[in-house]
Amino acid sequence: MIRWFKLALGLGLLTTLLFAPLSNTLPTSAQTKAIDPIFDVSIAQLHLRLMEAEEELDVEIDVPEPRPIEFVDCSVEKCVALTFDDGPSTHTIGILKSLHKAGAKATFFALGIQLRQHPHIAREILLQGHELGGHSYAHQKLQYLSRWELERDFNYVSKLMFDATGERPAMFRPPYGEFDSLVHEVANAPMILWSVDPKDWLTKDPNETYERVVSEVKPGDIVVMHDILGSTRYALPRILKTLGNRGYKFVTVSELLGELKPGQIYRSATDVK
Ligand SMILES: [Zn+2]
Repeated sequence: MIRWFKLALGLGLLTTLLFAPLSNTLPTSAQTKAIDPIFDVSIAQLHLRLMEAEEELDVEIDVPEPRPIEFVDCSVEKCVALTFDDGPSTHTIGILKSLHKAGAKATFFALGIQLRQHPHIAREILLQGHELGGHSYAHQKLQYLSRWELERDFNYVSKLMFDATGERPAMFRPPYGEFDSLVHEVANAPMILWSVDPKDWLTKDPNETYERVVSEVKPGDIVVMHDILGSTRYALPRILKTLGNRGYKFVTVSELLGELKPGQIYRSATDVK
């Protein structure tokens, strides 16, 4: 009986030791019950998928040499900031190519879970002269997390971005654009929302995404799209062509807004004080 007890105790200890390093990065039991509407799976399943995905070989990147950075004066030019959330993903590579072809710059808000899977794509985003901000680890509704959980989330995404690119996120976009005073305080970063939302994640239709963006954009807008969607990747070349023909310059968020202040909320260039 005692031998069995010792064996059970030993196995329990072994399991704890084996999984202890992982538990720092895994969600708490309360969070594992949460359903993530974007990915439509539970957070626990998401982590299982992540672990499987990490065993796959990373895709080769074939992107052209970056263009020299040209200064755009948004007080004179018609500027728009295209932003892409929830990546980096394999679709990001196609998006980078379209941006390069059009001489356009953009801003990407990365999830920690995607940074783990595609660190070299994150690096390529910066090499191509675009900007990279944080978008949480696994796209949870952050207003349901405790201070400790929020700190862990932000620190972990910051570390993943640093490991991938050598830079830490200089700006933050909360998942769903939702946050409360605690999220705002703990993030302690410029909060970048948007003024044009074509709802590409809802329609997943390149024509609809294209139509909505080109019919709504005004100078100084921030457009939110998603670089995890093939439909958005296919809509982008037409968006760049039509808006480019109308005289728009495609700039990063900080080119559009100038110096960003931690804690300030930005939806478009009209929020610059
Ligand atoms: Zn998102």
